[in-house]
Amino acid sequence: MASIRKLHTQLVNKERSAVEITQKALDKTQSLEPKLHSFLCVTADKALEQARAVDAKIAAGEEIGLLAGIPIGIKDNMCTQGITTTCASRILENFVPPYESTVTQKLFDAGAVMVGKANMDEFAMGSSCETSAYQVTSNPWDLSRVPGGSSGGSASAVAADECVVSLGSDTGGSIRLPASFCGVVGMKPTYGLVSRYGLVAYASSLDQIGPFGRSVEDAAILLSAIAGHDPKDSTSLNVTASDYAANLTPDFKTKGQLRIGIIKETFGEGLDSVVEQAVTKAIDKLQVLGAEIHVISCPRFRYGLPSYYIIAPSEASANLARYDGVKYGYRSEDPDNLVSMYTKTRASGFGEEVKRRIMIGTYALSAGYYDAYYLKAQKVRTLIKQDFENAFAQVDVLVCPTSPVTAFKAGEKTADPLSMYLTDLMTIPVNLAGLPGLSVPCGFDDKGLPIGLQLISNALREDLLFQVAYAYEQSTDWHLRKPQL
Ligand code: GLN
Repeated sequence: MASIRKLHTQLVNKERSAVEITQKALDKTQSLEPKLHSFLCVTADKALEQARAVDAKIAAGEEIGLLAGIPIGIKDNMCTQGITTTCASRILENFVPPYESTVTQKLFDAGAVMVGKANMDEFAMGSSCETSAYQVTSNPWDLSRVPGGSSGGSASAVAADECVVSLGSDTGGSIRLPASFCGVVGMKPTYGLVSRYGLVAYASSLDQIGPFGRSVEDAAILLSAIAGHDPKDSTSLNVTASDYAANLTPDFKTKGQLRIGIIKETFGEGLDSVVEQAVTKAIDKLQVLGAEIHVISCPRFRYGLPSYYIIAPSEASANLARYDGVKYGYRSEDPDNLVSMYTKTRASGFGEEVKRRIMIGTYALSAGYYDAYYLKAQKVRTLIKQDFENAFAQVDVLVCPTSPVTAFKAGEKTADPLSMYLTDLMTIPVNLAGLPGLSVPCGFDDKGLPIGLQLISNALREDLLFQVAYAYEQSTDWHLRKPQL
């Protein structure tokens, strides 16, 4: 499928109808889903209804926005009114939200067409999409490999052309990692830029919704449509959305000196040599495009992972206390009494990884351990933030690999949670500091698997991230390669 701008032009010029575009996405989805399993449910009727509404507007001579008639995928942790929202968990198996999340409302108001609800790790806990209670999504570049997680369905759907763009959520890397594994663009915005109203909470101080696209421009257009203040989210920043696609130019030589800092600590032990080579080449390219390259130290970066695995499970243990069989979704049959109904519901409703996180979080928050674990982790979080502050006093944008490895085989890391957690080593510090991060394709390994380059900026400099990513993307042809399905 073409880019958002191209499809928009075709729609406005009446070369194609929104129904035709939507039907094409639905046909593609139908033929690929038996292999890919990107979607937990395909919302064909709703999609066609939304497409017809766009066609009616065009026929009536009304102006339509860029996203009108564009097929999109939505991660299944965003509430969609009247459409099951499971978070890939048994415990929300039959949960039908009575309200719409702010992001989906904004997209629907803009005329976007929802193709379906994308698969994910259960409650967004995971890096491979394998903790989903329902299905394992495949990586479109190699079906025996994972798409990354937790927003794996959203990434694979875009990579495989089942939809044009999609939304994911990122608590510790869940947009950027699958973007990197699937060879698409993925961006986690500044904490508070996009409303979390209607996003099922995992770790509320870290969760952010963000876009996936096959190009930087498509991702920028999607972010522009969902960003901005929302009175329904108390952590929402008091800012209006910018047009992030407005100032994308193929090089930044003319824009004064752009200073790019390589995060020294992300190179070395544990980094796959193919990834290192691709990222180093990408940095050379950025220099050719006019950037001044510096080496920057973020000495506390490596404490991101251990502090995240205290903070995120702690918040999760509190957030997931609400699933008790009474208020939402699944309830265990044949309860002896109220307490056993709660325990049986939670024991069979949650998967292994979710239970592990709830136990870690409950332990870290318990009296006597709180100071040693939770409080300590929060202090480390502040130090990591300071590292970024120091870095951004010297440079405008930081670069590093998105992931130390490329997509691994399904089942390869499921028995070893620690090795699974390590894939987020380079994305997690960005969430802890609340900063924006973007992954853009920067090459392929010897098995033909995509590699991602992570760009990080200061808070609310999404405009700069998109500009740098766009200039880089336009100087390469990585984004033009397509998986052979
Ligand atoms: N893989 C990390 C985790 O399991 C990050 C997940 C996310 O960003 N939602 O917590």
